[in-house]
Amino acid sequence: METIIALGGNPNSGKTTLFNELTGARQHVGNYPGVTVDKKEGIYNYNGYRLNIVDLPGTYSLTAYSIEEVVARDFLVAQKPEVTINIVDASNLERNLYFTIQLLELGIPVCIALNMMDVAKSRGITINHHKLSSILQIPVVPIVARTGEGKLELMKTVAELARKKKERKPLVISYGADLEEAISQMQKKIESEHFMTLLYPARWIAIKYLENDAQILKKGKETDPVIAKTLEEHVSKVSRHIQQTAETYPEALIADCRYGYISSLLKQEVMHQQYDEDRLYTSDKIDKVLTNRFIGPVIMLLILMGLYQFTFTYSEIPVGLTENFFGWLGEITYNSLPDGLLRSLIISGVIDGVGGVLGFAPLIMFMFFGIAILEDSGYLARVAYMLDRIFRVFGLHGSSVMAYIISGGIAGGCAVPGVMATRTLRSPKERLATLLTVPFMNCGAKLPVFALLIAAFFNKNEAIMMFAITIIAWIGALIIAKILRLTIIKGDPTPFIMELPPYRLPTFKGVMIHTWERTWQYIKKAGTVILGISVVLWAMMSFPGMPDSEVKRFEQQREALKSLELSPSQLEEKMAEIEHEEAATPLRYSIAGRIGIALESITQFAGFDWRTNIALLGGFAAKEVVVSTLGTAYSLGELDPEESGSLAEKLASSPEWNPVVALSLIIFTIFYAPCFVAVVCISREAGSWKWGAFSMIFNTAVAFSFAVAVFQIGSLITK
Ligand code: GDP
Ligand code: MG
Repeated sequence: METIIALGGNPNSGKTTLFNELTGARQHVGNYPGVTVDKKEGIYNYNGYRLNIVDLPGTYSLTAYSIEEVVARDFLVAQKPEVTINIVDASNLERNLYFTIQLLELGIPVCIALNMMDVAKSRGITINHHKLSSILQIPVVPIVARTGEGKLELMKTVAELARKKKERKPLVISYGADLEEAISQMQKKIESEHFMTLLYPARWIAIKYLENDAQILKKGKETDPVIAKTLEEHVSKVSRHIQQTAETYPEALIADCRYGYISSLLKQEVMHQQYDEDRLYTSDKIDKVLTNRFIGPVIMLLILMGLYQFTFTYSEIPVGLTENFFGWLGEITYNSLPDGLLRSLIISGVIDGVGGVLGFAPLIMFMFFGIAILEDSGYLARVAYMLDRIFRVFGLHGSSVMAYIISGGIAGGCAVPGVMATRTLRSPKERLATLLTVPFMNCGAKLPVFALLIAAFFNKNEAIMMFAITIIAWIGALIIAKILRLTIIKGDPTPFIMELPPYRLPTFKGVMIHTWERTWQYIKKAGTVILGISVVLWAMMSFPGMPDSEVKRFEQQREALKSLELSPSQLEEKMAEIEHEEAATPLRYSIAGRIGIALESITQFAGFDWRTNIALLGGFAAKEVVVSTLGTAYSLGELDPEESGSLAEKLASSPEWNPVVALSLIIFTIFYAPCFVAVVCISREAGSWKWGAFSMIFNTAVAFSFAVAVFQIGSLITK
């Protein structure tokens, strides 16, 4: 049997750092809520005793308000870990203990890892951990996760606790006369009916009913609708009473009582802080400038611009090298395989398709590296903080900012976790508006599309173009959010309080792991999903091939040429022309080609030719496919792959393309339908397929209108 040890605590308390320190496993080190949503496991060996450590998502509380909270709670209740290590940020003791006492109310075995002792010390905070331990009656071990200090002591304590297997009584906090009376009545009912008592302590269930915990209410209804009804009636009676007497809600009162408990606990010689009047913490000092009302936003834009400058400057050489590598690979394949379908599949479908996407991997890596630094240092939280005011004007919420950033607000995120992150929004309307607008951010899959078009047509102003693309995406998303909030999702805004985590010097290891994980995701996706789609699209672009009538037509043209009296050089030139046309013709007659050509009658207004149409259709599956499909389309029908350059060069020299077309395509790519996975996710989170369908149709319509406007105006100006 395996011993399960859970690791839980607030976001930013150092959970991931400790997890990595213990298991040696790679783990994302994030600085804001919403990132560590999935479950990670690793093994720690203690004297031959295998401890299976599970990293829970970071949360401030155990009420079912957000996905992290539900995930963490369900795991603790259903898996019953032998011990839960509660990692507590010693420099933020009061807030962190809010989570701790909820663990204790659940009645599970807990050991506190009192982390960031170094930070606490530098702020003049002293903590008597023996005292804390004796009041809460659980072991408390001081550690510094970043250096591994105290790790062995911690694991020794945990292993002992696991071996003892002592039952723990749930912690009981007094919630005041009114609530206590209701709790005890409800508790009696729950106990006598054995209502969900196999899963949770009876008192705990009663408290959750009072807290209006959506998950428990639902489970209760499913377990026994009659008892559930009785309990709900109890709750609404108390709730009315409390609203009349205390002008508040039971859940707020409960939270107040918990904080009251903590603050009296801390006063019992547990914590002492030495205040130094003249000294502001370094973080606060930095924030005076970085989040200043006027200078703050300017600095933010400069940092963004700096990030893009950095990315494009340093990735230029490695991107060139990767492109050369794929060119070389294409040549080798060309020379070693006989003419035919297999060669076409490998060169046009795989190398020119997937290679086009992989070619940008170094650029993606540099971008992620920069973002990892911004994230690990705590700066991204400041961005969210500064944008909160603006977001409220547009009918969104402060928590929407993080969802935007996760979706690719700075470039290179993903709308799927972004959509998930909207679960932290408690107002359903703000949440829906956020859900529907996060796909406008520039996710990692759109990056290669932009990178390609920028390289081909705007290579003098790369960073500025990327900067402009980002700003356009944000402005567009905000305006559309506002329109949605004024029409189909009307409603009032809700308040938002954000706590800023302190600035931290990012560690080299943390940033590298971060960068590598995301880059690897990109490469993996290119090698699997994109490869698959690319092969399918290659087939759609290769079959059924040229009809016999066309073959005959070219034959006749050649015959006709021969009968003319031309000089040998003239003849050769004309022959080459025919040969070129003939090579490009099968694509036009392929399944994909016919669809692309059929769509041209509409898309011509945005400047998209039939090849681009095929690429954009492929992009519904995943946005990288736009690049891989263009790669395949411009590779098929090519006579001599040795002579042609990179895809960007091919586009730049192609007559159908110019900067206006490229710009129109960039705009279209920013706004058109989310990829397939994101649509599924949106439907699920919004609770209906209608919203998924809405985002596909609405976004594509918006994108097309913008693209037409850009192309028409652009063509007029450049004429
Ligand atoms: P999580 O959100 O709980 O997973 O927290 P992380 O493990 O991502 O840690 C947040 C930040 O705190 C990272 O920058 C860590 O390097 C830093 N950190 C973690 N533990 C310590 C510690 O004991 N001392 C100091 N000074 N920093 C720490
Ligand atoms: Mg983490």
